[in-house]
Parts: sequence; structure tokens; C-alpha cells
Amino acid sequence: LLEGLEKLRDLPAETEDGVSVQLQVNTGLMTDINRSLERGAQGVGLYRSEIPFMIRDRFPSEEEQRVLYREQLQAFAPLPVTMRTLDVGGDKSLSYFPIEEDNPFLGWRGIRVTLDHPEIFIVQVRAMLKAAAGLNNLRIMLPMVTNVFEAEEAQHLIHRAWLEVREEGVDVDMPPVGVMIEVPATIYQARALAQRVDFLSVGTNDLTQYLLAVDRNNRQVSDLYNSFHPSVLHALLHVVEQAHAEGKPVSVCGEMAGDPASALLLMAMGFDALSMNASNLLRVKAAVRQVNMGFLRRLLNEVLAMDNGEVITAYMDLQLTKVG
Ligand code: PEP
Ligand code: MG
Repeated sequence: LLEGLEKLRDLPAETEDGVSVQLQVNTGLMTDINRSLERGAQGVGLYRSEIPFMIRDRFPSEEEQRVLYREQLQAFAPLPVTMRTLDVGGDKSLSYFPIEEDNPFLGWRGIRVTLDHPEIFIVQVRAMLKAAAGLNNLRIMLPMVTNVFEAEEAQHLIHRAWLEVREEGVDVDMPPVGVMIEVPATIYQARALAQRVDFLSVGTNDLTQYLLAVDRNNRQVSDLYNSFHPSVLHALLHVVEQAHAEGKPVSVCGEMAGDPASALLLMAMGFDALSMNASNLLRVKAAVRQVNMGFLRRLLNEVLAMDNGEVITAYMDLQLTKVG
């Protein structure tokens, strides 16, 4: 643990004037569990379910998946664990399920794959539901949604899987279902999506990539990859407003949430939860505890009036040195 930050473990993530934000973790491997609990995470905002699929040489069976998911759900119970359904394609490949495409990032990935293969989706959801029996801290999240229809179809399949396992005697509630906002089209469908699902979560890694048309893994254009680009910031603010207009919670689970300067701006926008790599959690909490909402709102207004992402980055660095 970081020198001096351990003492923050059990203190709330709240500003000097008492406004709080949920700090959650992104997980995927078993080893993430202890690291997260040691740092006082308030649940899992993103469990990347594809990671255990990627380290195998065939699809894990329903029972193998149930055992894996149970470990995550049990370790964090009663805190919520947000399990994302399989997000393969793009930069995440399975050796036993090859996808050959000219433009993988614009191709068959995330929910597009699983809606075309409902048998894969249903097995995974059944395993998640069985794993949550008696705990009921499961939330299910859908990756790479582009339109309302995909969300509805996925919800329909989840409901079907729930009816099935209930019929088989599994005692589990229907879990909250949410959608990731990571395809730019969904920025302008955020309200329609929020009407239909229980929560939204912004995947700023992909949202930045797609809004700026900059491959998130290409070093040649990495200078252009900037989540402080004004278009990204205005999109984020719009998504919060639309989710809250429908009374639905909204979080960020991309890397941005784990950067203290970005986290402060996201909190000023009104995000309810930030989900990050466990290693960043205490640093973000330290930053939150050193500011007040007046300062954060002023900072957000200043930044939203700027039209250059690099200037915003430099300005935020400067403000952070004041925070300490
Ligand atoms: C994202 O896109 O921001 C995200 C959280 O998902 P991933 O990084 O797994 O694509
Ligand atoms: Mg993503």
C-alpha cells in the first residue's frame, strides 16, 4: 500500500463539505479481490468477465463460470458486484473463438457477439445468477451497446435465464441491469437507455477512442488520445444529466476514474460512483477528501469553457499541485 494512505482505508470518500462519491474497483483476476478489499473498495463497478475466458483454451462451462463468479460475489458481499457480460472482439481475442476482420474495433465485439450467440450469453447469465443465490449483490452490465434494441433484447434474455434458474430452484432476485456508454451514439440515447435500464456506466477508454477516432492502443497517435478533450468532457456531462433526469445512477468505469484530477472533475459533474484499478483508489480518495464542492464546481465551469484538451490537462495538473 502507498505510504501514508493506508489510514484512509476506512474513511469515507467525501469532500470537506460532506459530499460523497462511491469508490469502486475494476476486477477480473482472483488476485484483484484482496487488493481491493485491503483498500476499502465499496464494491465492484466493473468485473471484466472476459479475462477468465481469455486465459483458457475453450469456453468455460456453466459450472466453471458459476464457481469463478461465486468467488467474486462472495468476497465482496454484501457490497455490489457489477459483472459485465462477455466483451470479446476488438482488442480482446479468444484463441478458440477467432474473429478475423479488417476493422475489429468497428466490428463484431461485445454485445454484438453475444446477441448473435444467445447460447453463450444465456449460459453466462445463468452462471452469474446461480452464483448470486442467497447473496443478491449481483448487477449485470452490457458492453458495447449501440442502440435501445440491443439493451431490450439482452434484458429479455436475462429475464429468460432468471425464469429458468428460478424454475430449477435457485433462490435469486432478478438483478439490476445496466448499460455501458462507450459507443458515441449512446451519448445521445442516454436518456432513452436510462428509461429502460437500472443504471448507466461510462467506459471512457472506448468512448474516448471512438469520439476522437484514435485507436486506444496505437502509440503513433497516443498524443491525440486525451480524455480531457472538450468533446469528451461535454459528452460526460450530458450523460450524467440524462441519467439523473430519469432518476438513474451513473458511474465511470474507464481509466479516467482512477486519475485523481479526472476523478475530481467527474465528481463535480455529479457521477455517483467511480470504478478504478485498486492501486489508484486511495490516491483518488485522498484528493476527494482535500477539496470542497465550491472549488470543484468552479473548476468544472472553468474547464468546460476551455476549448483545448492540452490546456485543460495542464490546468488540471496545476490545480492538483494545489490540492497536494
Ligand atoms: C472502457 O471501455 O472504458 C472500459 C471500461 O472497458 P474496457 O477497457 O474493458 O474496454
Ligand atoms: Mg470498453
